[in-house]
Amino acid sequence: MSKRKLASSYSTLRRQVRAQVHADLCSVAADDCSNVDDDESGDEFLTTNSTASMADVEFVPNISLCDPIHIHLSDDSYEGDDNAGDHNNHPPQCDLQSSDFADCHWVGSDTDSEDTDCDEESDLVGQINEWANKYAIPHVAVTELMHVLKPHLPALPNCARTLLCTPRNCSVKQLKNGGEYCHLGLAKGLQEMLISGTNTVVQTTCLKLQFNVDGVPLFKSSNLALWPILCRIKNADNSEPFVVGIYCGNEKPADATEFLAEFVAEASDLADNGISICGEINRVEIHSFVCDAPARAFVKGIKCPSGYSACEKCTEHGDYQNKVIYRHTDAPLRTNIAFDEMADENHHVGPCPLKPLKVGCVSQFGLDYMHLVCLGVVRRLLLYWKGPVGPLCARLGRRDVDRLSQKLVLLCPNIPSDFVRKPRSVSEVMRWKATEFRQFLLYTGPVVLQDILSEKMYHHFMLLSVAVRILACPKFALSFCDYAHELLVLFVNEAEQLYGNEIYVYNVHCLIHLANDVRNLGALDEFSAFTFENKLGQLKKMIRKPQYPIQQIVYRLTEKQKSKSVICDQANENLSVKYEHSTGPVLAQYRSYRQYRCLHAKNCNISLSQGNNCILTTEGYPTVVQNILSPSADDIEQVLLMCQSFVTAEDAFSHPLPSSRLGIYKVSNKLTQLFVLPLCSVANKCTLLPVKDSFVVFPLLH
Ligand SMILES: [Zn+2]
Repeated sequence: MSKRKLASSYSTLRRQVRAQVHADLCSVAADDCSNVDDDESGDEFLTTNSTASMADVEFVPNISLCDPIHIHLSDDSYEGDDNAGDHNNHPPQCDLQSSDFADCHWVGSDTDSEDTDCDEESDLVGQINEWANKYAIPHVAVTELMHVLKPHLPALPNCARTLLCTPRNCSVKQLKNGGEYCHLGLAKGLQEMLISGTNTVVQTTCLKLQFNVDGVPLFKSSNLALWPILCRIKNADNSEPFVVGIYCGNEKPADATEFLAEFVAEASDLADNGISICGEINRVEIHSFVCDAPARAFVKGIKCPSGYSACEKCTEHGDYQNKVIYRHTDAPLRTNIAFDEMADENHHVGPCPLKPLKVGCVSQFGLDYMHLVCLGVVRRLLLYWKGPVGPLCARLGRRDVDRLSQKLVLLCPNIPSDFVRKPRSVSEVMRWKATEFRQFLLYTGPVVLQDILSEKMYHHFMLLSVAVRILACPKFALSFCDYAHELLVLFVNEAEQLYGNEIYVYNVHCLIHLANDVRNLGALDEFSAFTFENKLGQLKKMIRKPQYPIQQIVYRLTEKQKSKSVICDQANENLSVKYEHSTGPVLAQYRSYRQYRCLHAKNCNISLSQGNNCILTTEGYPTVVQNILSPSADDIEQVLLMCQSFVTAEDAFSHPLPSSRLGIYKVSNKLTQLFVLPLCSVANKCTLLPVKDSFVVFPLLH
């Protein structure tokens, strides 16, 4: 029996002794006090029950106790909590003599082993807390588990709320115009992000903040929706979004000024006065706002995307042809000053609720490419090709649509594990997520569409694909920004010939402004909603029942914050190797090295399996990793890759530019001799997609 089990047995035993003593107290004569051992008078049990003697405790002998055991009785809450449960149990049979307790150390003893037990129990309680948070285990299930574990883990509290540090209430206020709002606090969130043990290090003393405001429907059966205000610190190591405030109601907030009032007041104060972190004042700057088009219109107080003069970047007015379309690409651009002065009356519906923040309402509201390009333009193109919407001249035949779906599905084994979703049939396009449209635009589309679309249509699609790839790539975004802008303007101008002028909806028109936003705010992912979308999904999952949705989220967030340090420590594992094997290939001079199947680097997994074994070297060669070597299991900094390059690598396409300029190659399936590559020579992980008798290599952007 392990020491822990013995200690637990003794804990149980002692509780039973105490219960028995309590029961016997009534019948114990006062003169029995003389039997109490003076040496144990410091014990809580014996002190409080000093009228009882161990001789009065009657148990049936069964368990033999030979070695000195350190009985562990932990905290007060445990002492008080466990009685009720123990009364329901049948006491184990044991042989207890007063002499058996001579070597026992009761509450308050300072032995090392007891400290160790305490630490171990505390660790276990922490791990249960972390587990419950990680898998969003309902409180009722956690409490039930705790009742099962309690006899073996006395440090456990009695209910899930205590274990998870669930707050008892939160401050939710009713808005005058309907709905509820809870302001969690911007300063509080920033301090928690920067001070807590999350390894977050700010690179400068100026915090650059990015905000997101968006609506999330909660249930299919009701109109109940959340409108969280999220924030992330752009220039921190850990830039995970956190919640500043949450609105919940049956409709979107009726009055943006009322909804945003507390946020605007606090953000404005921080922007003026900075924030104190560990005694040091940090300046606070607003980097940008990231929202979808309807939410941008809502928080800026401007026309909705379906209205006239709704373009946030230019003064194009729009024509009505069954819907509002924007045909021209050369209208004068809007400026922050003109916006503040509300110079274009047709653009505004009221004063901007964010005016006190002094943000550039044109330049600092980037056009989010997740909604604009992925869910907007790419979905529209796919729907035009598949039907039944869009002009007939753009529609593909049923056979071509089926072939497109088959080609996509056949690529599944070649899709790296970095993608959450594998390609699926075009017939399910209405259910595709934004990441699937992004995957189609940047990787699979250029391969599968090649012999399905007409040459003109394919070249037109490639204008968009290449432009977005350039703008999404931090390496190319700024240096090729003008070129990408030209491609996008060309894409918009040529669209009418292929798809008719009905394609000139808000999303397609706004493509011509995308490059300018990249110039102001950085590569597309610097101001995309992809990061915030994950957080919104997490918040939605925190709601387990329809009642009190805001309270549920606040409670879950607090619980998560309490167990954050443990979770983050595990997430910060930067470099590791896994799955040792001995099947080679290995060059002779590296035979003493250990071999592995998988290398986990920060944000990237390279393995020997199909789909995850292709990289681009810093010299620009597409290469296949055949083995992962390390001098020892502990020396993973010296990891070497056994690689083979492709015998031939040429441009995969030449329109609108030679693809090799972007690191995209068509490669043969013949490989060179094996060679060794240090990890520092890996520039990118790539996806290797089969095309007839060869492959196309695309460097991963995400
Ligand atoms: Zn415009």
